[in-house]
Amino acid sequence: MKILNKSMFAINGLLSLGIVSQQTAISAEKEKRTSPNFIIIFCDDLGYGDIGVYGNPNILTPNIDMMAYQGQKWTNFYVAAPVSTPSRAALLTGRLPVRSGMASEKRRVLFPNSNGGLPPNEITIAKLLKGNGYRTAAVGKWHLGHESPFLPTDHGFESYFGIPYSNDMDKIEATDYFTLAEMERFQAYNVPLMRDDKIVERPADQRTITRRYTEEIIGKIRSYKKEPFFLYLAYSFPHIPLFRSPEFKGRSKAGIYGDVVEEIDWSVGRILETLKEEKIAEKTFVIFTSDNGPWLTYGTHGGSAGLLRGGKGGTFEGGMREPAILWWPGTIKPGVVTEMATTMDLLPTFCSLAKIPLPNDRTYDGYDISPVIFGTGPNPRDVIIYYRDTEVYAIRKGAYKAHFITQPEYGDNTKTFHNPPLLYNLDIDPSEKFDIAKKHPEIITEIKKILEEHLSTIVPVENQLEK
Ligand code: MG
Repeated sequence: MKILNKSMFAINGLLSLGIVSQQTAISAEKEKRTSPNFIIIFCDDLGYGDIGVYGNPNILTPNIDMMAYQGQKWTNFYVAAPVSTPSRAALLTGRLPVRSGMASEKRRVLFPNSNGGLPPNEITIAKLLKGNGYRTAAVGKWHLGHESPFLPTDHGFESYFGIPYSNDMDKIEATDYFTLAEMERFQAYNVPLMRDDKIVERPADQRTITRRYTEEIIGKIRSYKKEPFFLYLAYSFPHIPLFRSPEFKGRSKAGIYGDVVEEIDWSVGRILETLKEEKIAEKTFVIFTSDNGPWLTYGTHGGSAGLLRGGKGGTFEGGMREPAILWWPGTIKPGVVTEMATTMDLLPTFCSLAKIPLPNDRTYDGYDISPVIFGTGPNPRDVIIYYRDTEVYAIRKGAYKAHFITQPEYGDNTKTFHNPPLLYNLDIDPSEKFDIAKKHPEIITEIKKILEEHLSTIVPVENQLEK
C-alpha cells in the first residue's frame, strides 16, 4: 500500500546510498512495532459470508472491504466456540473456555440470572497490557459476567460502556420475535446499558447503539492518542433483535440484516478515518472479526456463512470460521492469508509485539502468529480443536478435519457419534460435503492421537455457567 511503499522506498533508497546501515533500518522497523496500539472490533453472530470482500453479493461494506485491501484478509481464522460466552472468554484469555470454566452443556452461555463469570484469576489481554503502561477500554457486549468481580472494569479495562449480555435477553413481552421486529420494539428487551459498573439506561435503546459504541471508541482514540492503548469494541449486532439508526433504515438491498451490517461497516470506516486524522494509523494494529457464525434459526435475520456448512451453535465450519481482517498500515503487508489462526492467538501475539512476557503459570492455547502476519517464519499453528461446550466434537490438522461427534446447532439434542469419524479435506472441500474417511485411515489415527494428547492437558475447574 501507499504508506508501506513510501517508507520501504525511503529505507531502501537510503540503504542503496549507504546512508543508513542495514542494522539501523531494522531498528527503525522494530521501533515502529514497540508498544503498538491494539483495537479489536468483534461483531456478534456475523457470518463468514456477510461481508462484501468475503463474497456477499448484496450487503455493501466498502469500508471493511477497503480495510481488507489495505490489510490482510484471513480465510482460515477461527473462534474457540460456536456461541458467545465461551468464544469471548477464549479471545480475551488466549485459553480454551474449558480451562476457565466458561463452557457448559447445560447452559451454553451466561444469562441474566447467572451468578458466574470469567474468574478473577484469569488474565485478560487488557490486564496484561494495562500492567505494562497501556490505556484500556471496553465498549459493547461483554457476556462474561454482569456483576462484580466479573465486569470489564474488574478484568483490566479502565472503562466500560455497553450491554453486559446478549441484546435478546431480558425479553419482557410474549409477542414472537418477527412481530416485534416488524414493530421495531426495542422496549420488549429490557437489556441494561452500563457505564463502568452502573446501569445508565434500561431498556437500552438499541436503535442507536451501534452509533453510540462507535462514538465512544472514537472519543477514546482521541483522548489516548499520545499513549499506547488497547480498545475492545464488541458490537452487539448483527445478533438478533436487529435495530439500526434512522439513516440506515431501508438502505440495504439485503433487508434489515443488510442495514445493520452496513451501519457497522460505516462505523469501521469512521474508526479507521479517526486513526488517520490523529496520525496514529501506522502505530495501530486493528483486527475485525466475529464471535461465532450466523444464527441460521432466524432465517433472513440471521446472516450467512457463505460457502461454509452450518452456523452458530455447531462445529461445522460455518459455526466457527469467521471473517477476519488485520490492518496496520505500513507494517502489515497487504494480501490474502490462508494460514490457520484463532482468536486465542491474539493474546500471545499482542504480548510478543508489546514485549510483554506471557505468564508461565497456566496453559495457553494461543500462539504468537506474528511470523505469519509479517511473513518472517512458519505458522506455529497447524491444529484447530472444535469444542461444543465442554466436549471436543472435531479436530482439524492441516487440511484435514475429523468430526467425532455432530449435532444440529439448535433444537435437537441428539448427538451422533462417528467411528470412524467423518473426514473432510477443507482445502479442496471447504463446504464439508465429501467424506473421505475410508481413504485415509492413517490421518484418522494421527488426529485421534492429537485428541488424546489434548484431553490429557485438561484439568477440571469450577463451572461458571452453571452457577
Ligand atoms: Mg454471538
